[in-house]
Amino acid sequence: MRVTTVVIGGGHSGLAISKCLTDRSIDHVVIERGEVANSWKSQRWDSLRLLTPNWLTRLPGHAYKGDQPDEFMGMPELIDFIESYSTAISAPMQGDTTVTSVRRQNGGYEVVTDQGTWQCATVVVASGACNVAAVPDVAAGLPDSVSSVTPLEYRNSDQLADGGVLVVGASATGAQLADEIHRSGRPVTISVGEHVRMPRTYRGRDVQWWMDAAGLLDESHTEVDDIVRARHVPSPQLVGSPERASVDLNTLVESGIELRGRLGGIRDGVAQFSGGFRNHCMLADLKMNRLLNTFDEWATESSCDEVADSHRFEPTRIEDEPPLEMNLASGQIQTVVWATGFRPDHSWLDVPVFDRKGRLEHDGGVLDSPGMYVMGMPFLRRRKSSFIHGAEDDANDLTDHLASHLDSMVA
Ligand SMILES: Cc1cc2nc3c(=O)[nH]c(=O)nc-3n(C[C@H](O)[C@H](O)[C@H](O)COP(=O)(O)OP(=O)(O)OC[C@H]3O[C@@H](n4cnc5c(N)ncnc54)[C@H](O)[C@@H]3O)c2cc1C
Repeated sequence: MRVTTVVIGGGHSGLAISKCLTDRSIDHVVIERGEVANSWKSQRWDSLRLLTPNWLTRLPGHAYKGDQPDEFMGMPELIDFIESYSTAISAPMQGDTTVTSVRRQNGGYEVVTDQGTWQCATVVVASGACNVAAVPDVAAGLPDSVSSVTPLEYRNSDQLADGGVLVVGASATGAQLADEIHRSGRPVTISVGEHVRMPRTYRGRDVQWWMDAAGLLDESHTEVDDIVRARHVPSPQLVGSPERASVDLNTLVESGIELRGRLGGIRDGVAQFSGGFRNHCMLADLKMNRLLNTFDEWATESSCDEVADSHRFEPTRIEDEPPLEMNLASGQIQTVVWATGFRPDHSWLDVPVFDRKGRLEHDGGVLDSPGMYVMGMPFLRRRKSSFIHGAEDDANDLTDHLASHLDSMVA
């Protein structure tokens, strides 16, 4: 089979670029191993709501049209949003088809799938940034008596054994799951490393409103000092709830959850936590206050009077240094939740586009292999790139690049 462009992945990123390719009459196919929005259907927990408000949930030519712009979509609503987008743009989807290899061939590419092989001039890798749970090596030391679960497998607390739970990681996922599991009546401890503290609302406005208004979401990959680091910053401690509640270490402690430092190792069944807990918390408070300063400066400079008075939040309460060890073999902990981040799976990509650490190397989504692109990675071209609404600008830019490449092939 032959086509000009193969898009790999039928999530929102693949669909956004499909729309831009269609607008330019570039013939293409979107190859998806499952169905449209597969990741949201098969790899997310039941209670998850977006942490971005509905007014930010938009794709090229398609925006949220409901009457609750400031609320946060749950999974059924989001899946419906992405599916109706696919229908509206008549995306040329080829579902239930897994790409098993991509290699260069005759100046273009050969895309091998379990349903046949495609020849094409250009490829867009939109297969997701969160295909695999990044479980640390220390997990190998977990005693046999303790079960482990990743956020990609977790659906709800009913699937956990009764008894204590250790959640490792305190970014958006870890904080949300610790809170949910604790509400099920289980004692919960959360291990906290580097984290990003962010209030849900500030001066009467949602934090995403501030991020958008102050221009931070549009910050370009060429403007930040250290793009490699920026692409690996943990997700902020945020939850999208009808109550617009903040979720941070203070609220977790108030509800009865215990805190520990970063999990450094497990030796003879004993978890060992870092002594840097206080530093991690102080750094997170410092960075949050810097962000609030940026918001305040923007409000002053732009004479914005639609916001309440400036204020600061209570620092993270660190009354005592938490214990540095926990015996995981004592029966106190029955389950460990590895909320330690995600990574993409590009194991099927047989093109030399990886760095020394095996990560896809790209310049704003343009790979060092002519006619090959990637979408949906953190801070791909802008800070908003990994969010749903970030796909529009990235897809437009990369389609421009891809179209120029096609022009250069025929010239
Ligand atoms: C827990 C969690 C919460 C998030 N919350 C928010 C939020 O609140 N707001 C927000 O804007 N963003 C959020 N994101 C980030 C982001 O929107 C999602 O990661 C989103 O799923 C990325 O879209 P995508 O299209 O790039 O990738 P995906 O949605 O993962 O789509 C990739 C598609 O590629 C397919 N695929 C993968 N490999 C192959 C292959 N070899 N062959 C064929 N098909 C393949 C997959 O089945 C999948 O359907 C969240 C992410 C996670 C993990």
